[in-house]
Amino acid sequence: MPGGVNSPVRAFQAVGGQPVFIARGEGAWLYDVDGNRYIDYVGSWGPLILGHRHPEVIAALRDCLETGTSFGAPTALETELAREIVSAIPSVEMVRLVNSGTEATMSALRLARGYTGRNRIVKFEGCYHGHADFLLIKAGSGALTLGVPTSPGVPADTAANTINAPYNDPDTLEQIFAAHGQDIAAVIVEPVAGNMGVVPPQEGFLSFLREITRRYGALLIFDEVMTGFRVAYGGAQERFGINPDLTCLGKIIGGGLPVGAYGGKREIMERVAPAGPVYQAGTLSGNPLAVTAGLATLRILQHPGTYAELERKSARLADGLARAAADAGVPVTLNRVGAMLCLFFTDHPVTDYESACRSNTARFAAFFRTMLSGGVYLAPSQFEAVFISLAHSGEQIDRTVEAAHKAFAAAGR
Ligand code: PLP
Repeated sequence: MPGGVNSPVRAFQAVGGQPVFIARGEGAWLYDVDGNRYIDYVGSWGPLILGHRHPEVIAALRDCLETGTSFGAPTALETELAREIVSAIPSVEMVRLVNSGTEATMSALRLARGYTGRNRIVKFEGCYHGHADFLLIKAGSGALTLGVPTSPGVPADTAANTINAPYNDPDTLEQIFAAHGQDIAAVIVEPVAGNMGVVPPQEGFLSFLREITRRYGALLIFDEVMTGFRVAYGGAQERFGINPDLTCLGKIIGGGLPVGAYGGKREIMERVAPAGPVYQAGTLSGNPLAVTAGLATLRILQHPGTYAELERKSARLADGLARAAADAGVPVTLNRVGAMLCLFFTDHPVTDYESACRSNTARFAAFFRTMLSGGVYLAPSQFEAVFISLAHSGEQIDRTVEAAHKAFAAAGR
């Protein structure tokens, strides 16, 4: 396998050393093949908001397995998940299930182009929307970590239709629309950016996106693959009170199995085949096992107090980490929105890609390695989020903060 991994973010290139090989997970614990145990803040890159092997998810999967693995024909289960998504997210009136976040964004953008009859799309520097050609333009996360903002293999004329704008910068976007507004099909945004570390939208940024896309007849697409059902049950759009035209989902709605979804206004979604002419399909889409894990996860997330608990746990971790950094005299900027946070090794505010890139990645690498040897599994890159789950106990969070004291000392050296 190239680099020994099936997704580049799993390699330890940015932090040094070899990745640990995982044997199993239980709650917030991860166990590697050498018998070490870690407190897990990756959660399979976001889906595992309940932790590993939640008993209700596993029981539902066991029951589902008895019925088969895939039918390639309609099932009640997928309809139930679709219904759940539509009732959770008011801007989503119809939804189509796919197999990954990449498929969701790729399909939503094809739909936006088909619906508007326009070619160009606007995305933001440092936002990652999966690995479709036209979205791998100054993408965040793995591409940012590897310093390959635009991948070879993406044709220049494909890239030409993607306009990059700085995140949290309404003035530049205003200029882009003034120049190309009549040809812009959609603006796609991570409403809380989570692939250049965590960068929250500044006050008024999302409502500006809503306003300018309406003004020019372009669609607003929220990529909530990471934020959906994480920063609130109804995602960032619930948290910030903005209704996009289309929404992309993934991660949590599959409960740890491969799922994605895109949905939005009925009038737009009715253009998708077979209701309309915009083609999109999938052999395994709406897979019974994936849908079952997603539904079981959402049902647990609906329990009263869930998001308050996530908020409490995340604040406890954030406060502890900030204290530990201050004690060690290491300058950090901590950004947090709900149960996703990032500790940037810089004393500047981080509001966009450029300010994220000012972080001291060598310090992060030293911090990461000491945390790992202290039993805390973080994403092996400065430009990833720390994901807190309902499975994290107060004791595990306190242990994490204790490990961070040592790790900040190592990072400060
Ligand atoms: N969009 C966002 C915001 C993501 O964070 C990701 C993955 O991390 C994707 C899209 C792509 O999803 P997938 O890896 O399931 O293709």
